[in-house]
Amino acid sequence: MDYGLISKIEKAKTYATEKERIQFDSFAVNVNGENSSHQVRFSSGDWGCDCDYFHTRGYCSHTMAMERILDQMLPRTVPS
Ligand SMILES: [Zn+2]
Repeated sequence: MDYGLISKIEKAKTYATEKERIQFDSFAVNVNGENSSHQVRFSSGDWGCDCDYFHTRGYCSHTMAMERILDQMLPRTVPS
């Protein structure tokens, strides 16, 4: 391995432990729920999910699961 690559890997390790360096603009994931799969979206601070519960409440088990996975990297929709 060349020195340049070693340096990049070390920097990556540092960034991975300093989550405050990272802000999400948007992403979309599929969450395989107990009954069916749901698409969860995050864009400019707003959550979305195609499940019925989200449409009436603005949050759901799928968005809350992503909040827990990305702990402290995203704004919370409900208190933890
Ligand atoms: Zn949902």
